[in-house]
Amino acid sequence: MSSRTLTLDDPLYAYVLDHGGREPEIARRLRERTASMPESGMQISPEQGNFMALLVELLGVRLAVEVGTFTGYSALRTALAMPPEGRLICCDISETYTGVGRPFWEEAGVADRIELQIGPATETLDTLIAEGAAGTVDFVFIDADKSNYDAYYERALTLLRPGGLIAVDNVLWSGAVINPDDTSADTEAIRALNSKIHGDERVTMALLPIGDGLTLARKR
Ligand code: CA
Repeated sequence: MSSRTLTLDDPLYAYVLDHGGREPEIARRLRERTASMPESGMQISPEQGNFMALLVELLGVRLAVEVGTFTGYSALRTALAMPPEGRLICCDISETYTGVGRPFWEEAGVADRIELQIGPATETLDTLIAEGAAGTVDFVFIDADKSNYDAYYERALTLLRPGGLIAVDNVLWSGAVINPDDTSADTEAIRALNSKIHGDERVTMALLPIGDGLTLARKR
């Protein structure tokens, strides 16, 4: 019994992985393909993928935006959880990383739900807003360069419909958020956004200790 979140040791984490959700086989293969890359730590964990896929189902997401796609694992999990008419707009600056995921999107039969926009995400989001998408998006996942997190959050809030959800990744930043000696730009940006969302009356929020920390913020 515990009144606080457990610290998972390796055996208990293995149990969570075994019992915590049904990761589609193609998603497992993409995750394993990415794990061989030196930057694999940028990929979300499978249990976070299970959770986000459930969120997408719960919200009945038909229009989603992902800021930071990397090799496309979270995009694959999101797209698979959407109905066939769903649309996921992915923002990333790397053709190389996203190119790893694209064949898996094709094989999973969801490539037609995913619209990849290569370029600075602030520009892609501003274009969406200018084209009239404000207030129409169901779900935004923010997982890109941390120094721009606030810019992504503000644009996401504009794009969301009331009741829509933002998920912000890496909000605990491997614990660096409580290390006073860490004053790097990324850490400071995450700290600032964590404090801002905590006090932001425009949303209902919860910070979950899953993966590297995931904040959910529902637009009121
Ligand atoms: Ca991340």
